[in-house]
Amino acid sequence: MRQTTVWKKLLGVEHVAIEGVRVETGAGGEEIAVIALRPDSRARLRCPKCRRRCRFADEGEGRRSWRSLDVHGRKCYLEAGAPRVQCPSHGLIVASVPWARHRSRFTAAFEDQAAWLCAQMSWRKVAVLLRTTWESLQQITVRVTADARARRDRLAGLRRIGIDEKSWGKGEDKYIMVVTDHGTGKIVWAAEGRCQDTVRAFFTALGPERSKLLTHVSADGAEWIHDVIREKAPRALICLDAFHVVKWAGEALDKVRRRTAAELRAAGNADQAASLGQAMWALRKAPEKLTGNQRTSLAGIAADNEQLYRAYLMKEQLREAFRVKGKHGKALITGLIAWARRSRIPEFARLARTLTRFKALIFATMDGGPSNGRAEGVNSQIQALIARARGFGSAGAVIAMAELVHGGLCPDLPLR
Ligand SMILES: [Zn+2]
Repeated sequence: MRQTTVWKKLLGVEHVAIEGVRVETGAGGEEIAVIALRPDSRARLRCPKCRRRCRFADEGEGRRSWRSLDVHGRKCYLEAGAPRVQCPSHGLIVASVPWARHRSRFTAAFEDQAAWLCAQMSWRKVAVLLRTTWESLQQITVRVTADARARRDRLAGLRRIGIDEKSWGKGEDKYIMVVTDHGTGKIVWAAEGRCQDTVRAFFTALGPERSKLLTHVSADGAEWIHDVIREKAPRALICLDAFHVVKWAGEALDKVRRRTAAELRAAGNADQAASLGQAMWALRKAPEKLTGNQRTSLAGIAADNEQLYRAYLMKEQLREAFRVKGKHGKALITGLIAWARRSRIPEFARLARTLTRFKALIFATMDGGPSNGRAEGVNSQIQALIARARGFGSAGAVIAMAELVHGGLCPDLPLR
């Protein structure tokens, strides 16, 4: 076998002709492998956007190189000319090459591996391992995700979905909209923004026929989202993700706890006030997960702070309602609203009003809406990922990372 054929096999790229292989000294004095090659007669002079064979225009910027996967710890580059072609639809454009994505300085194999690694571990580590920069990793994830997105139809067969706005940084403009399939727990669509037009863009992508097939659409309490759902998917039941509702109750409970602690401090009971601070987690946690100490501190609250304990029981009743769902769940909600309204706890009287306002949507959740445990699990994973992706500093990169990990877009490792 000729040496160039061996290299062609090792690279695993189709439709190329290898011209030669050499070792050079890189900028840092290290040895690097350079493989000179060109697209073969079938792959040359094609438009990178429509794949059409086009007329040669000029040599563009001349020869250039693409970073590829390392060869035994040494950096490896593919080197070729990058002529421009004249595409009838896309104009003057650099011709595509079979080994790399359009406008990338990395080979597709390198990018796939980088994206795979970014999905598995911190990109600080990926940048060190691959000897590349954060900025490159950010662009790579965006390209790999866009490519994977274009290859599949993730909006097929949707029935029950969740629409959520998520903040990815400080500031009013740092929001993304994420649509999840409750059936698979995967992200199926995401875009920058938090306005009705963002939600409309999703329904445009879905199309009117498929919008009609949606049976349940869950969202948080943002009524401007509900308006668009009613307009675009009038047959779908709008529901609230249970974890949002449980969170409202948790926040109300936390306010009661802080107020009670402040009142105790004002009355000179600093010790009791401090113990309420420690009880925060006991009050938030699910009862079945409490430790022995947390049980004791709850018992203390039951004995000394009757109002706070009632607030705790109301929060738990709400959780229980979403656990049992159906007829019994609805009865628990109705009972809770009445209880909270006459509780003389202002934070829970307010919660009762909110629950009343959203009662129809909450009941829809109890009738075949998404299961809470799963929706909450998916939500918190996505939330954690967005917090991690924040370092990338652009909405596009945050979305790409979220879709890579939770949208089924992570490429297979380029192992052969
Ligand atoms: Zn074209």
